Order: sequence, then structure tokens, then C-alpha cells
Amino acid sequence: GLADRLQNTMQKIRGKGKVNESDVKEMMREVRLALLEADVNFKVVKDFVKRVSERAVGQEVLKSLTPGQQVIKVVKEELTELMGGEQSKIATASRPPTVIMMVGLQGAGKTTTSGKLANLLRKKYNRKPLLVAADIYRPAAIKQLETLGKQLGMPVFSLGDQVNPVEIARQAIEKAKQDHNDYVLIDTAGRLHVDENLMGELKEIKELTKPDEIFLVVDAMTGQDAVNVAESFNEQLGLTGVVLTKLDGDTRGGAALSIRAVSNTPIKFVGMGEKLDALEAFHPERMASRILGMGDVLTLIEKAQANVDEEKAKELEKKMRTASFTFDDFLDQLGQVRNMGPLDDLIKMLPGANKIKGIDNLSIDEKQIGHVEAIIRSMTKNEKEHPEVINAGRRKRIAKGSGTSIQEVNRLLKQFEEMKKMMKQVTNMQKGKKKGGFKF
Ligand code: GDP
Ligand code: MG
Repeated sequence: GLADRLQNTMQKIRGKGKVNESDVKEMMREVRLALLEADVNFKVVKDFVKRVSERAVGQEVLKSLTPGQQVIKVVKEELTELMGGEQSKIATASRPPTVIMMVGLQGAGKTTTSGKLANLLRKKYNRKPLLVAADIYRPAAIKQLETLGKQLGMPVFSLGDQVNPVEIARQAIEKAKQDHNDYVLIDTAGRLHVDENLMGELKEIKELTKPDEIFLVVDAMTGQDAVNVAESFNEQLGLTGVVLTKLDGDTRGGAALSIRAVSNTPIKFVGMGEKLDALEAFHPERMASRILGMGDVLTLIEKAQANVDEEKAKELEKKMRTASFTFDDFLDQLGQVRNMGPLDDLIKMLPGANKIKGIDNLSIDEKQIGHVEAIIRSMTKNEKEHPEVINAGRRKRIAKGSGTSIQEVNRLLKQFEEMKKMMKQVTNMQKGKKKGGFKF
């Protein structure tokens, strides 16, 4: 996949002292093939490679101290740029209700995403959405939305399947005004393919309701088809955003990379599962990192380089990569890492950290670092290297010796274990063994 391929290429140059033009050329060939293999649009790939090459053979890289890392950085920045800035804001009409039209082909996830979006609007923005069942063609489509509404405890407007969808939309907005619903989410019908009847109906709904947002829902699994669908829907309707669904599945990621460039419409949200809370803001930079399989490790390296000397930064990176990290190293790094910024921020930047449950609640009190240092100093050499031997008795001794509590010792041991786990993830990702989640 894309990740493996890019990683192999990057691995080759990672350790290089100097990069010359032919190195860059070879790398770019790999990058080009990797992107095409991942089903990225041909023209997008061509432009992309051109931009990266220009920057890579320019002063920026050749004059850099670490050309290898610099090239990776350029690739990542350009990948991010390709997907656009972060765009997860939802419009608000000056006179409510705000109208959002959900459009897309059959099975893309319109109905599910309508429910997810309603959930998000209520949870995050404290809004009162009305869901509107305007798909009168697909059997059980109305029922499906009503079920979602029931699950969410939210109203669903429907007039059955004998009333024209344009009329349904009109009456729904009236109803929303009466009931003080500030958002109206219209779940429209899809077809198997883009066709004139579908577009005609959607255009009529658009003309009548003057929607503040038209979100195209596309299935990430359909790759280039998703990109073509986005292009034609945008031409005909004028989209304000794309929701890319089923990114939790085994997708190659080509769609994410080319949708904005081809259809000129930003991806605003991604669907990460069937559940009603599985809708996330789209972060181009995170996506680029995931594609490269590196988490935010680049940012971490940059920070380390800015605050620690070159040699030490390389050492840190290597330790993280090989996960051969002991409490002695930890102690050693603490002083340096302390200069890099709040510890919990750093830990959250580690690859895979965003997938760890409760990471947002993980916090390291800066004032406690002194305690941490004392605890580690109270360990024996063997305990520092093999913390698994630290049983209850030893914990008690360490707490006493360091003037801390058993709880603090326990917490440190647990955090250290978490940290090692994350480091292991880096190693696995770099070996291309990453399982589940995003696959490209
Ligand atoms: P519609 O025809 O466009 O309204 O599509 P539906 O909302 O009925 O969704 C079609 C199928 O895709 C359903 O089985 C959904 O549960 C599933 N689905 C929708 N979004 C996602 C997603 O983000 N991830 C996964 N795994 N399944 C999804
Ligand atoms: Mg539907």
C-alpha cells in the first residue's frame, strides 16, 4: 500500500547525509507509483510530484543539515496542502433554521451521516436539529431515519412516500420554524449512478430551500469513483463540503487525497464507523501523517531538534524507534524533554496516541516531575531495566525511599508502560505491520 511504499522510500533516505538530484528523482518515482497504486487521480499525482520535486531539489533540502528528514517533511506538507486546510465548521444561517442538504449515491451513508451530524450538532454546538425524510424511493429509507431519530431522541419529519420530496422539504422548514428547530437536515434520495432525474430533483430542493450547506456523502471504499462523483455533484449542485465515509474500513486512501484537488470541495468530516458518534472532523495533517505512517513524529523530531542538540535528538528518535527505552533513559531524557514543552502534549504527539483510549485525560503534572525523578532514582539498576520485576513489596520500598506514595509509583509504572507501548507502535508502523484502522 501507499504507506509501506512511501515508508520504504523514506527509510532509504532517512539516514542519508547528503541527497543529490538523482536521489530525489528516484524517490519521486517511488512516490508517484505509490500514489497511483493508491488510486489517486493521475493529474493530481503529476502536479503533486512536480511540486515536491521542485522543493526537494531546491535550496530548502540540499542546504539542510538533514536532507532526508527534510524531504519527508516536504512530502508531508504537500500531502497536507493537497487535502486542504481544516474545514469542519458548519454554517449557521442568520435567520434560522439553517438548512443542510445531504446528497450522494445510494449506500454512501447519507442517512447514517444525517443522524451522526444531528448528534454532533446537538452535542458539540447545543443545537436542536430536525431530521427530514426526503428519500421516498428506497424501500424502508423513511423507517431507517425514524429509527435513528428514536435512538437519538430527536424529531424526524416525514410525509410518507406519496408526497413529492420538494414539498416534503418545504413543509419540513415550516415545521422547524414552528417548533424552534434551528437546523434542518434533509436526507435526500440517492441512485446507483449519477443521473438526470436525481439531479433534477436535488436542484429543485436546492432552489426551494436555499440550503446553507450541501454536503456530499461519499464512500471512501469506492476510490476514484468517489472522486468522479464529487466532481459531477459539484458541477451540478455546487457543494459546500464532502463527508468521506467508511474510512474505518480497508480503503486505499486515494479518494481522500484527490477529492479536493479534483472537485474543488473540501472534505469536512469523515465517517469512522456505523455508530452515531463515529463522525470526526477531517484533519488533513493527521491524514497525511497516517498515510506516511508516522503519527506526528515529525513534529516531535522538529521540537527535539529545536531544543536538544542534534546528536541527542537522533538518539531519542532511535530509542523511540527501537523501543529500547529504560527508566534510566527516561530519567536522562526528562531534563531535555522538559525544555520541549508540556509533557502530555508531547506524548499526545506520539504515533498512534490518538487511538489510545483516555489519552485526552492523560496528564502529567509538571510539578510532579521532581517526584518522578526521585522515584526512578530509588529504583535499583535491575528495576530500571526490567520494571516488570517491581512487585508490591518493591513498590512500597521505592515509595518510601523517594518520599512519595505507592499510588505515585503505580502511576509512573503505568505511564511508562503506556509510553513503551506507543513506541512499539512506531516500530511496528515503520516495519509496515500496522493492523486495522487506516490501510492504504
Ligand atoms: P445511504 O443510502 O446513502 O442513505 O446510506 P446509509 O446511511 O443507509 O448507509 C449504508 C450503509 O453504510 C449502512 O449499513 C451504514 O451503517 C454504513 N455506513 C455508513 N457510514 C459508515 C461509516 O462511516 N463506516 C462504516 N463502517 N459503515 C458506514
Ligand atoms: Mg438513505
